[in-house]
Amino acid sequence: MKYYNKLSEWLKNKFGERVLKICLDGGFTCPNRDGTKGVGGCIFCDERGSGSHLKKIDIKSQVTTYLNSYRAQRANKYIVYFQNFSNTYASPEILKQRYDSALISEKIVAMGIATRPDCINEKISKTIAKYQKNYFIWVELGLQSSNEKTGSLINKCYNNNDFIQAVRLLNEFKIPIVAHIMIGLPNETKKDLEETVNLLNSLSIWGLKIHSTYVVKDTQLHKMLINGDYKPISLSEYIESACFVLTHISPEIVIHRISGDAPKEKLVEPEWNLHKKRIINGIDKYLKDNDLYQGKYYKKNAISLIKYGKLNKKIQNKEN
Ligand code: SF4
Repeated sequence: MKYYNKLSEWLKNKFGERVLKICLDGGFTCPNRDGTKGVGGCIFCDERGSGSHLKKIDIKSQVTTYLNSYRAQRANKYIVYFQNFSNTYASPEILKQRYDSALISEKIVAMGIATRPDCINEKISKTIAKYQKNYFIWVELGLQSSNEKTGSLINKCYNNNDFIQAVRLLNEFKIPIVAHIMIGLPNETKKDLEETVNLLNSLSIWGLKIHSTYVVKDTQLHKMLINGDYKPISLSEYIESACFVLTHISPEIVIHRISGDAPKEKLVEPEWNLHKKRIINGIDKYLKDNDLYQGKYYKKNAISLIKYGKLNKKIQNKEN
């Protein structure tokens, strides 16, 4: 029984065989770290920007090293995935240079670009869209939570309106979008999670990454944990919440991830984040035992976008 749309199966259908991801550090930074939007970053982000396992070598060498590795032998087709920090935070010329230096083998069939909504504009979208001629391209946008209070608390330094504007702009260029959300953020309730899912259901999103919140050494969240201002959720709470998301999100959406990917040497809590299999199997079991599946309770959402601020004129006209 298929409980939810897994990315691995979606890729297999599209490309006819297994496709592996090559995770890259593109040498970018983040406006929430360099002072443009904020300093110190999101409270859960460590100083390597959620890709701390990646080595800082040039992009081409990172791809070549992976393709020559034993791990790469498990497939014949690959996705280059720009993971660290905000991978659209540069001029279109620099972006093109860096993306081009990853696309060096005919075995590469797709490119994923992780970024922040406020690092998307028309010129950047146009630059990315050009790659669609030869590759399957997607852009990943953080949302984490649609609760603006949570947004301020986690210091993400962008809001729902930024997210919606970026989604609409990428939609205009027909670039598939993967949204990131987090379960277990400080003070978040089930209602917050429901509203986050409602917002996503009201937009045109291709994929979803569900992350568990974990505490990494020397982050702001670590300080909150030490001070007693943050209490991580349990594995069973996480499983229940992840299943809530899966059952309420559109059945069309491709699920890219249903857990975090905690760095072992830097993880403080919760320990269960290290056991990806246990999390995934727990979710499968919960869905099976309760006769649940992706989209079971999905309702095409008529959420008022006005609540999230004015859309740009071009988009509004298209909607009317
Ligand atoms: S936007 Fe991403 S890279 Fe930037 S501080 Fe937040 S989590 Fe880190």
